Amino acid sequence: MPSNHPAWQELETIERRESVLLAPYATHSSQSKGRKYQEHAQSYRGPFQRDRDRIIHTAAYRRLSHKTQVFTSQEGDYHRNRLTHTLEVCSIARTVARALRLNEDLVEVMALMHDIGHPPFGHSGEDVLKECLKEEGGFSHNQHALRIVEELESPYLEFPGLNLSYETLEGQCYRANKQSMKICPSLEAQVVDAADSIAYDSHDADDALELGLLNIEQLLTVPMWRNAADRVQRKAHAPTNSPLRRAVIHELIDWQVKDLLQTATEQITQRDTGCSNNIETQKSMVLQSVELQQQKTELERFLFQHVYRHPDVVKIRDRAQTALHELFDKMVDHIEYLPESFRHRAKTVGVRRSVCDYLAGMTDRFAWREHKRLCDP
Ligand code: MG
Repeated sequence: MPSNHPAWQELETIERRESVLLAPYATHSSQSKGRKYQEHAQSYRGPFQRDRDRIIHTAAYRRLSHKTQVFTSQEGDYHRNRLTHTLEVCSIARTVARALRLNEDLVEVMALMHDIGHPPFGHSGEDVLKECLKEEGGFSHNQHALRIVEELESPYLEFPGLNLSYETLEGQCYRANKQSMKICPSLEAQVVDAADSIAYDSHDADDALELGLLNIEQLLTVPMWRNAADRVQRKAHAPTNSPLRRAVIHELIDWQVKDLLQTATEQITQRDTGCSNNIETQKSMVLQSVELQQQKTELERFLFQHVYRHPDVVKIRDRAQTALHELFDKMVDHIEYLPESFRHRAKTVGVRRSVCDYLAGMTDRFAWREHKRLCDP
């Protein structure tokens, strides 16, 4: 295509727009390292917008609506599922990215894909698959997200997988290999990581209150909740319990976002980098302040003991784990139960891995249905 073609001029406009709106340390589309399989640039969408659209059209993304975040659909319909959690992460991450003048398109795609590797039944399901695959390298939802976008979802004729941009994949690689990665990824990937934590710390408390697993008095013993409640009370002159609860959840999110913005801005200013290439560092810069991080750790410890280990939650988790384990064993013994594509895949990755990949793609309700059909007729 000649460089004076209108499409090229439009693309230049996207890059020009980014050069005005984004900070020098943001990831600019014009600096992208590209894709594994080269594709023509589009005039009307930048590379990360294109990645985002590819994620939204995957089956794995749609299935998030019927996957457990913490509580299953049997427990009610107020609480978050994996999709609504993802959208909350995305919303927080975009707010932070815009305030820091980072690339919102890149942040959005990384947020939308960050949990697509989760199997049915949340972390309980993940533990089962990890156990089943312990001889074959284990299972992690972050690693599985990469498997989905590079191998399992292949809607294009020209190449396998979604052929996402290097920068998008790098963000997910960071999530999958945090312990071993010596260099931090882009600031955009760090923002998504921080937004994930802000979202679940706030909404897990809210969901647990709604389900009656916790009460306000218990939460008031936790410094972070108590401080947020005090801030709300000062603003709103002692509202009643229900609005107080909602207001405290909003305050928790708002407080964490403001704290994150302040700390990240200080960190970035201190390093005073000229461009995104120079911002590679061993230490994350998008962090909460030490004081707030301590309070978050305490809240997480409290939620772990009182919510994630609550007898009602454990009872449902145990049932789900048994069902998934039985389904795994049944399918390994009867490979004919796998869809044709996974039987074919078993020839290259092995039966156990292929069964695991198939199970990981299931929604909670499909896993229950399959369990009933195959293991408990
Ligand atoms: Mg998450």
